[in-house]
Amino acid sequence: MNTIRATLVGVALAASAVMPARGQNDPAGAPGAHPMTKQHQAMLEAIRADTAETASWTGRRDLSPRVWAAMAKVERHRFVPEAEAPYAYLNRPRPIGHGQTISQPFIVALMTELLDLDPADRVLEIGAGSGYQAAVLAELAREVYTVEIVEALGRAAERRLEDLGYGNVQVRIGDGFKGWPEAAPFDAIIVTAAPERIPETLVEQLKPGGRLVIPLGRQWEPQSLQRCVKGDNGKLACENKLPVAFVPMIRDKSEDERRHLGR
Ligand code: SAH
Repeated sequence: MNTIRATLVGVALAASAVMPARGQNDPAGAPGAHPMTKQHQAMLEAIRADTAETASWTGRRDLSPRVWAAMAKVERHRFVPEAEAPYAYLNRPRPIGHGQTISQPFIVALMTELLDLDPADRVLEIGAGSGYQAAVLAELAREVYTVEIVEALGRAAERRLEDLGYGNVQVRIGDGFKGWPEAAPFDAIIVTAAPERIPETLVEQLKPGGRLVIPLGRQWEPQSLQRCVKGDNGKLACENKLPVAFVPMIRDKSEDERRHLGR
């Protein structure tokens, strides 16, 4: 992965030199209402190159036309802090505050691809972060439910998605280890922070035939992106798709303490 990133960064950095200034003439309009910038096009090219380069692991030589359309439509610069806007179309994870990151565009595209979404699907995301992945999902599925543990990030993502007109996304502040029981079962679940093991609650909230895409492993140690399908017997069948590096899925400590104290 490091070599892939290193080769692509040159292309992406060259593209960032011609980033247009953001000004009053750039209001948050409808998603995709603006013509694609050169930076955005360069990001899609970088995703295309990464997709081809990793095809022997992922089993996907190309992304489906629907996923390409969503990646082309959602404007990543709308999901990063103002100071990060010039770098928004680099094919890199970037900081979004609170020690968290917006995922690398190629990883967003690949995880979305691996979910094999149908327009009628209802999807659960754990780790709303900036809301970018949720917006991509919202272009492809009927309903998106996304959970974020850092309140400030979750609230900002909620506002942003609302401003951009994504009426089919709901954001909840909470612990993703619990999923979203009231809205379950889901056709697909995507986890964008890495737990060490697959949370059983999420498996319970997935429909038979449903897909789960999740990174597994400790931070700074080798992690693997898994694509799992829930069988009719309720058991998951998982395939390791790619080595990845994600922020850890955090446990809500206050909840553990409450449980400990029997409250
Ligand atoms: N999907 C995001 C990327 C987020 S990075 C995007 O498109 O921008 C992972 C996110 O998972 C972080 O925002 C982090 O705060 C959140 N997270 C970590 N542990 C969590 C948990 N237990 N429940 C919900 N969200 C969690």
